[in-house]
Amino acid sequence: MFPGGGKKPCLRCLLQDMPEEAVLAQSLRELIALIPPEDRAAEETVRKRLAACRACGHLGRGTCGLCGCYVEHRAEKKRADCPDLPSRWRPETAG
Ligand code: SF4
Repeated sequence: MFPGGGKKPCLRCLLQDMPEEAVLAQSLRELIALIPPEDRAAEETVRKRLAACRACGHLGRGTCGLCGCYVEHRAEKKRADCPDLPSRWRPETAG
């Protein structure tokens, strides 16, 4: 049994995959909505980045264990990169 009597926490999940984190996931979506359009990565880029995060051993409850970011927020930024060495995903380049 885990604290609070809940299920075992999912270590390899994004916040959007954890129903128990719905309030935090909504706050994160609101934060993401504040990213100016010119600074946002393409939808396909975000999808690939988050797939890499889901497969990464550093992901823990939606957070990157290397940088502490919520990966769903970090992945939305065009110029962000993965802090791992070697990097698992890179800034989106123009053209
Ligand atoms: S190290 Fe990179 S791939 Fe892994 S969780 Fe962090 S940002 Fe995602």
